[in-house]
Amino acid sequence: SMEFTDRLTRVEPSATLAISALATELENDGADVVDLSVGEPDFPTPRNIVDAGQDAMDAGHTGYTTSAGIIDLREAISEKLADDGLDHGPEEIIVTPGAKQALYEIVQALIQDGDEVALLDPAWVSYEAMVKMAGGDLTRVDLSDSDFQLEPALDDLEAAVSDDTELLIVNSPSNPTGAVYSDAALEGVRDLAVEHDITVISDEIYKEITYGVEPTSLGTLEGMADRTITVNGFSKAYSMTGWRLGYFAGPEDLIEQAGKLHSHSVSSAVNFVQHAGIEALENTDEAVAEMTEAFEERRELVVDLLEEHGVDVAVPDGAFYMMLPVDDDDQAWCEGAIEDAHVATVPGSAFGTPGYARISYAASEERLEEGIERLADEGYL
Ligand code: PLP
Repeated sequence: SMEFTDRLTRVEPSATLAISALATELENDGADVVDLSVGEPDFPTPRNIVDAGQDAMDAGHTGYTTSAGIIDLREAISEKLADDGLDHGPEEIIVTPGAKQALYEIVQALIQDGDEVALLDPAWVSYEAMVKMAGGDLTRVDLSDSDFQLEPALDDLEAAVSDDTELLIVNSPSNPTGAVYSDAALEGVRDLAVEHDITVISDEIYKEITYGVEPTSLGTLEGMADRTITVNGFSKAYSMTGWRLGYFAGPEDLIEQAGKLHSHSVSSAVNFVQHAGIEALENTDEAVAEMTEAFEERRELVVDLLEEHGVDVAVPDGAFYMMLPVDDDDQAWCEGAIEDAHVATVPGSAFGTPGYARISYAASEERLEEGIERLADEGYL
């Protein structure tokens, strides 16, 4: 029989799989499942981006590209980052098939056996898996006692990190909480990163989806430019999850090292998809604003409906998720909710924070109303 590597056998299969499997099973039996477990916008990719992708295909942009990505896209990304206050020329940018691949390459470039990586919990599920696959050890800081805000938990972060900490991953706006960290929180991160010489990944994939707040990019803070790697992508803001397009920007030596993994594995992101990415960055502000407005209205709706049922949530300032406080055994709660109410959510323990379920409000208002009504009717609220 085959023998598998430690780096994979030490990684758990995603806890969301059990929920998806249950949902599929129920749907196959004819049940109408309200799926609030999805991590993607429910809008089609804006028409101008689809057209740009098709035009690029028609124009013959179907071959390999430069491994780091076509120069026009990297220049457009460089300009986007400049709008965010970050200074990265095209030579400091690698275009990847999704932000997930960007994060994977960075972790592989920086982390090896025994290196310590700090996460802010609840944290997106793949950070843990990526660190473990690289051989790293995790130190985790729980933000659930501070409404998922980092500023009140800076003392805990200070206690968790040390000179042994190699890397800290910050994701604001956050998946799964929707929290946007304050400038004071980011300054606290900066002070600790400088003190302990920690490299920081700033995963800004939800930066464009916020409600009345402007998230600061960590790399703009004094002292952070040469220790921050900024990750972003097209999946969420432009509703392009299946196109697989993302990028990272950072110091040139990091780009050089990670670039080896990139060129020896994926080679490059898809050629015509990169062309569509230019259109997304340059001509899609209006569609992004419309989608964000829709998410904001849904957020209001869900928060109000939950309040009517006596449930208070930490109101998210960005992304399209919120954490619903549930039983201590959140896995059992989520399984029950899908079996009894036919409403799919993701257990908080998947993100390192038991006692919650993640609701995605990237669903129509009608489905959101239906889902919450069912949860209430079946005694889950
Ligand atoms: N980072 C976070 C926090 C996410 O939620 C996701 C997607 O769910 C990603 C990165 C990766 O997105 P993609 O690979 O589609 O660009």
